[in-house]
Amino acid sequence: MTGKDLPALSIADLQSLLRNREISPREVLEALRARIEAVDGEIAAYLSLDSEAAAREAEKANVDLPLGGVPIAIKDIINVAGEPCTCASKILRGYRAPYDATVVRKLRAAGAIPFGKTNMDEFAMGSSTENSAMKLTRNPWDLSRVPGGSSGGSAAAVAANEAFGALGTETGGSIRQPAALSGVVGLKPTYGRVSRFGVVAFASSLDQVGPLTKTVRDSALIMNAIAGHDEQETTSLNEPVPDYTARLGEDLRGFRLGLAKEYMIEGIDPQVKAVINAAVKHLNSLGAEIVDVSLPHTDYATAVYYILATAEASANLARFDGVRYGYRAENPKDLLDLYGRTRGEGFGLEVKRRIILGTYVLSSGYYDAYYLRAQKVRELIRRDFARAFEKVDALISPTSPVPAFKFGERTADPLQMYLADIFTSSANLAGICGISVPCGFTEADGQRLPIGLQLLGKALDEARILQIAHAYEQSTDWHKARPPIAATRQNA
Ligand code: GLN
Repeated sequence: MTGKDLPALSIADLQSLLRNREISPREVLEALRARIEAVDGEIAAYLSLDSEAAAREAEKANVDLPLGGVPIAIKDIINVAGEPCTCASKILRGYRAPYDATVVRKLRAAGAIPFGKTNMDEFAMGSSTENSAMKLTRNPWDLSRVPGGSSGGSAAAVAANEAFGALGTETGGSIRQPAALSGVVGLKPTYGRVSRFGVVAFASSLDQVGPLTKTVRDSALIMNAIAGHDEQETTSLNEPVPDYTARLGEDLRGFRLGLAKEYMIEGIDPQVKAVINAAVKHLNSLGAEIVDVSLPHTDYATAVYYILATAEASANLARFDGVRYGYRAENPKDLLDLYGRTRGEGFGLEVKRRIILGTYVLSSGYYDAYYLRAQKVRELIRRDFARAFEKVDALISPTSPVPAFKFGERTADPLQMYLADIFTSSANLAGICGISVPCGFTEADGQRLPIGLQLLGKALDEARILQIAHAYEQSTDWHKARPPIAATRQNA
């Protein structure tokens, strides 16, 4: 194994080399850094690299711990002590995290080395990473296309072998959708399963942290490290954490998988549809029974999501006022001028749109018509899932109705961008768990573009969707396919 081959390894394979002392954490970090130097000029997945701190940690890493010596990239919305945390927003330029988020602390406790902060849509608002105020991240499969979003930097870094694994966050699909569009595995845990302490809030009733990885096993390994109760977080569930790798390798006989008829919408790319149909047949051939189910309130999910997410965002983002964090407008006349200009200059267009929308749906006179009604429909969506899970172990769908789109293709019409969330945001509304796993490709302009299969599970059933995703993955070759950039670019 030369340094050049190291970055292509899964976490599980890397860990066994580390544990057998065939390589050292320092060599791993150096190989990864060389890889980033070789490809990140084109991919632009990272916003900052905490090289010195990581190098120091590599020297003392305990490789016998579950993730001992494994570098993990962190979405730039999660605090890593001493490092920048910009949320890809001008308003947080210059801000440095005073402490570790609980997920980062837990990764360190498992021996991992947090390394590099990844690009994202500003404050996680978006589905393409084009809303970053810092840079455009390119899809490693086709550099003229987006990697998905909002955790696009994390997804692209893993896909281009510039990260062994990464943390992302979800409010309405921001782990699963970029995982699908970039051809990697993305898991959104159950609401409350993973602590958000130290993670900048977007919409607090929806936000969750989760892993983006090359394989399903790696996803389980990261979950083993980050899941669990946190006294510092009031929504954190106090439930035992299973070993998420325990069921990997068990077969699917006796499993019932649901196909929701409401998900057979027009607007799904025909190639995506064909690939998903083939994946469903494949799951069936592995022993799972396919069952028709209904999620009758699906039609309302996107509208409900965009009312509740913007309402909560308008409250959460009130704290960025130029007084406590990051950017501050120059020479303010008075306090109001300081607030107004700091926010006017510091926030990007999409963030402003959401703050205005959210403020509107919460304002008196509109609160009942929008916010309160959306809360009620949210409950109906939650019940749809509860009913479906009485009949099936998991639900199957495409993760995204379309493969990776070109830069600029959807930015002119925000509604077009919002509609890309159709299959993902209802899981956040219902608080359940979901995973996206590579399941094939479409062909566009001579380029292969990856497609993701989504499996949704009931609350706290991560081990089961990991098991199903793993059985699927291991009986197909999709996860072995690497984007052209991974094959052609050389490094030290
Ligand atoms: N695309 C959705 C949005 O723009 C979801 C974002 C997310 O999950 N953070 O809000």
